[in-house]
Amino acid sequence: METAEKQALEQNMEQTIDIKSYNLAELTAWFQAQGEKAFRAKQVYQWMHQKHVTDFEQMTNLPKELRIRLAKQCTLISLKAVERQIAKDGTRKYLFALSDGNMIESVLMRYRHGNSICISSQAGCRMGCTFCASAIGGLVRNLYPSEMLEQIYRIAQDIGERISHVVVMGTGEPLDNFAHLLKFIELLTDDNGIHMSQRNLTVSTCGIVPRIRELADKKLQITLALSLHASSQEKRQALMPVAKKYHLEEVMDACAYYFAQTGRRMTFEYSLIGGMNDTQEDVRRLTQLLKGKNCHLNLIPINPVRERAYVQSNADVINAFKNRLEKNGINVTIRRELGRDIDGACGQLRQKYAQHEPLDCI
Ligand code: SAH
Repeated sequence: METAEKQALEQNMEQTIDIKSYNLAELTAWFQAQGEKAFRAKQVYQWMHQKHVTDFEQMTNLPKELRIRLAKQCTLISLKAVERQIAKDGTRKYLFALSDGNMIESVLMRYRHGNSICISSQAGCRMGCTFCASAIGGLVRNLYPSEMLEQIYRIAQDIGERISHVVVMGTGEPLDNFAHLLKFIELLTDDNGIHMSQRNLTVSTCGIVPRIRELADKKLQITLALSLHASSQEKRQALMPVAKKYHLEEVMDACAYYFAQTGRRMTFEYSLIGGMNDTQEDVRRLTQLLKGKNCHLNLIPINPVRERAYVQSNADVINAFKNRLEKNGINVTIRRELGRDIDGACGQLRQKYAQHEPLDCI
């Protein structure tokens, strides 16, 4: 996109409202303040969140004059897919352009139980985990609720099927974009939108303790996944800078609090890195840490990232790790690696693009 065009768009965004990030009550209040009837707000809301239109012109049950006025006063955020990779197992990875030219990625995974989408919550990330491609360029900006929803809407339209599950496990730290995350959840589960059940939504965090506690107090029925990746404070902080701020013990306490407040079983994620966190000592400590807790553990063979030196644990080590945990009554699965033949790991596709000239995408 030309610079002048980009500036015009940014200016336009400042003056207009991001109508797709409003809940129905806010939208209704806004319509009424404009002298419009409340039912118009509901019509517009359903066009955006159920029919997923990308232009006010498509809202055909609105008077022409209202459509023109909305187009002047509001921005109808919609994402443009600039690349789509389809893996042999049906996994699809999308690179989307935001209206300011930033890129984000989302992944569709097809399971027997339905279609699941992994969405990004930020453009870039400031958490700096050493194994993660998303950390490489740092944080660019938070995504708006509308931009989180759009990833789902555009993919649903692309495949023409219902999306049953959403995981907030793409680029970004969702609890570092907390207010927008909460609004996104509200809109995603609204019965005038796609009305997803809270139980079908998983939010993954690197462990921002005060936000885990705040989320717990909301008593939502979503699943919280904690990126654990190490069973000792020392190793965890070597992999994840955030661990220096929030110690392992505090993080585990916050997770226990989440379970106590919501009754939702925690998921722990543990990416296995050859020679780094997959030793006998690691599994012994991990067993101790999780034994007797009502939780689920997801072992993820590390997805090697071009820019990082980490290697996968070998298959025997992974299986031995799993067996030992299972013997101790811990509920554990090894995450099936979907989309290995495409740029499967977090942030890889986006990173690939960052190394090229900005795309002329809109
Ligand atoms: N910021 C959130 C969500 C994004 S990452 C979080 O930290 O949980 C989603 C999961 O993928 C996290 O568990 C993350 O640590 C993990 N991950 C990131 N890069 C990875 C890689 N190269 N291989 C395996 N897992 C990775």
